[in-house]
Amino acid sequence: MVIKLHDLYFKPFISEKQISDAVQRMVDVVAEDLGDEVPVFVGILNGSFMFVSDFVKKYPKPCEVTFIKLASYQGVKSTEDIQRLIGLTQDLTGRTVVILEDIIDSGNTLVEVHRIFKNENVKQLIIATLFYKPEAYKKDFKLDYVGIEIPNKFIVGYGLDYDGLGRNLPAIYQQKTTQHMTNIVLFGPPGAGKGTQANFLKETYNLVHISTGDVFRYNIKNETALGTLAKSYMDKGELVPDQVTIEMLNSEVEKNTDANGFIFDGFPRTDAQASALDALMRTKDSQIDAMIALEVDDEVLVERLLERGKTSGRADDADESIIRNRITEYYSKTAVLKNYYSAQDKYYGVDGVGSIEEITTRINAVIDTL
Ligand code: AMP
Repeated sequence: MVIKLHDLYFKPFISEKQISDAVQRMVDVVAEDLGDEVPVFVGILNGSFMFVSDFVKKYPKPCEVTFIKLASYQGVKSTEDIQRLIGLTQDLTGRTVVILEDIIDSGNTLVEVHRIFKNENVKQLIIATLFYKPEAYKKDFKLDYVGIEIPNKFIVGYGLDYDGLGRNLPAIYQQKTTQHMTNIVLFGPPGAGKGTQANFLKETYNLVHISTGDVFRYNIKNETALGTLAKSYMDKGELVPDQVTIEMLNSEVEKNTDANGFIFDGFPRTDAQASALDALMRTKDSQIDAMIALEVDDEVLVERLLERGKTSGRADDADESIIRNRITEYYSKTAVLKNYYSAQDKYYGVDGVGSIEEITTRINAVIDTL
């Protein structure tokens, strides 16, 4: 699940379980190496508070814990300028000190740590860090224990923040550098007004509108192989097979790599299509944000479609029994998607009866809350 902190988006990166395993591994080696020595663990605030807490809870032998507070981050860039806000408050002469850092990237904090301990006459100064960015590290101080090496991307969670937010997250999230998209599934029975509303939405929110029905019709008109295949199903008001439809949808999305987001109209229509769409969005570092379903009574639909059939030239709009078959097909196969998106808390029913502007206003109100 992608999260937003201030103006930036972050995606899940390192799970609670992976963190816990890494902490345990570090504890095991440190405890083994220190033998009967009673160490003083020194956490570097604020970021290390969760790590220190979990580390010492797992530590199997007597130990002491204290903190110093330095500040080194302004926004997402590591700054040169590190301030010591709370220094050492106890005498550490002759003690084995283990620094517990949440993350070491440029290494600037370490310079300050070494400066602080230079005159403390400690027995030994050991550096242990949960996360380490080798690509960013510019100093030569030895790192005695490293939990997890990570690439040089900004992370939050498990004590680490972005301008104050995110420290409380139990897992680690990584900044999403690809653009954030808004992706909407526009849903509703044939004749509900999806096409009309999609045209307004794509203008208002600068989204790419993909109507699978339109793409099929375009292919039929141009007599492509796909068109010929789809036509046999469409003429009867039946669904084109999933495999064909999913492949086509994927290629439509790939044609718009720099889109702000998509309005999917007429897709997904089956569970398999919905899963395929989720998978496709994941490859884009993105997700479906909402299914907006236009709710319209059957008899109103039949009336609207027969009216549209007079001018649309669509064979499937001209005949009342085909229209009814499309509506039945919608409720029998497609309505299961309501459950699919409801389960993810993404289903938004919108009353599809009223003037075009009224319905647009209702839909915009939903999108603006996302
Ligand atoms: P529409 O314009 O959305 O009403 O779609 C017209 C016809 O295209 C449908 O009755 C189906 O035969 C076919 N079609 C459109 N989208 C899909 C889809 N997602 N899955 C299967 N068939 C589809």
